[in-house]
Amino acid sequence: MIKIFNTLNKKKEKLVPICSKMINMYVCGITVYDLCHIGHARTLIFFDVVFRYLQYIGYNVNYVRNITDIDDKIIKRAHKRKETYDQLSNAMIYEMQKDCKMLNLIPPKYEPRVTNYMNEIINMIQILYEKGHAYINYDNDVLFNLSTYKNYGVFSKKIKFFLSTKNIKHHTFFQKEKNCDFVLWKHAKSNEPSWPSPWGKGRPGWHIECSAINYGIFGKNCDIHGGGADLIFPHHENEVAQSVCAHTGAQVNMWMHTGMVMYKNNKMSKSLGNYYTIKSCLKKYHPDVIRYFLTSSHYRSQINYTNTSLKQAYYAVKRLYFALLGTMSLPIQYKKNKFYLKFLSAMNDDFNTPKAYAILFTLARKINSYKEKNMHQANKLSTILRVLSNLLGILYDNPDNFLNRHLNLSQNKIQQINTLIQEREIDRKFHKWKAADIKREQLKSMGIILTDTKNGTRWFIKNNKKL
Ligand SMILES: [Zn+2]
Repeated sequence: MIKIFNTLNKKKEKLVPICSKMINMYVCGITVYDLCHIGHARTLIFFDVVFRYLQYIGYNVNYVRNITDIDDKIIKRAHKRKETYDQLSNAMIYEMQKDCKMLNLIPPKYEPRVTNYMNEIINMIQILYEKGHAYINYDNDVLFNLSTYKNYGVFSKKIKFFLSTKNIKHHTFFQKEKNCDFVLWKHAKSNEPSWPSPWGKGRPGWHIECSAINYGIFGKNCDIHGGGADLIFPHHENEVAQSVCAHTGAQVNMWMHTGMVMYKNNKMSKSLGNYYTIKSCLKKYHPDVIRYFLTSSHYRSQINYTNTSLKQAYYAVKRLYFALLGTMSLPIQYKKNKFYLKFLSAMNDDFNTPKAYAILFTLARKINSYKEKNMHQANKLSTILRVLSNLLGILYDNPDNFLNRHLNLSQNKIQQINTLIQEREIDRKFHKWKAADIKREQLKSMGIILTDTKNGTRWFIKNNKKL
């Protein structure tokens, strides 16, 4: 039985699927006006872990992650780049999907684009309008009338915050809107992309798209709705208001939110300009290092992006790959193994990944200690380490590749190393132990460490400073 912290009730609750062994999961995706950054990566990677894990424990997971491909920011950026909005959004979707692939994310079952859901969006606004929850303002925009929904603010538990005039004054949302009513349908200005609607040509507001797409795909059967914690207000608060008013009653069972990635005491975000793109991080770090950095803290906690924390992540992942070095997977039964069971129980407790990683490091230590005396046992444990790490989306690489990454060694140097290793192999074959040791020392003086395994000798750089 898996327990998940439900933002709605602020407590851990048992995951009870609406339909038997099926989980419908909707996660708010990217607004594609620029490249994705590490803040986005945290949400993308965490829900990838949720997706992998729920499937592994036997659920059929319908994972939907939307793409916001029309938005004010997209229009503005496309205009600046002298492109159409869809040229920009298509280019950014392409880059986003490349990033996701590099980070070893399993694609969601469905990635709906807002522009493909205009009918659903317009239908939902129409229902809200007919029920008296929406009105047209002087700018010909359609707005949600919050005075018609008495529970506004209950979801984000910020109702007291709204009512404090001090906070209202400083809250950008209020500064912009003067009242809390938010846009459902934005009337198009000239030269803006637009879609026909009963209220004239325009485009949807940001919040209505997720309510309408989610309802269009899952109806009222959404088990999990996820996103970053910065979406709790106003995005998810507004989603709840729209969905409850349009279709009466809750549409989502559980809400899950990932904590923010901080950089120099501020939330990493494009609007603040303090961000690192996924691409720039991938140039420097192996995808597993990024995944580890973003999942080794509990998903609800805040994390700080620093060079030191990324380096620590590198050394942590290196320990795991080092344990796998020279081992091979065996066709064994492991589902009663105590490490395996402990790992599952950590994950079943609201995806406690820090605890899950601690189990992987214990396994790694055991494997290293068995390598000298009992290779069969080392191989058995390495099989379990691989299976469990793969659930977190890491350790798919060949250990040699990881450990020798970014060597920047010339082909001549690599050839020299391989030749010495081959000569040493011959020495060993003919029991010339002294000559073999000399070659090992020679390689050591070059900073190369050897590991002899059943499958041959492997080498890696001792203090590989480059990550
Ligand atoms: Zn959303």
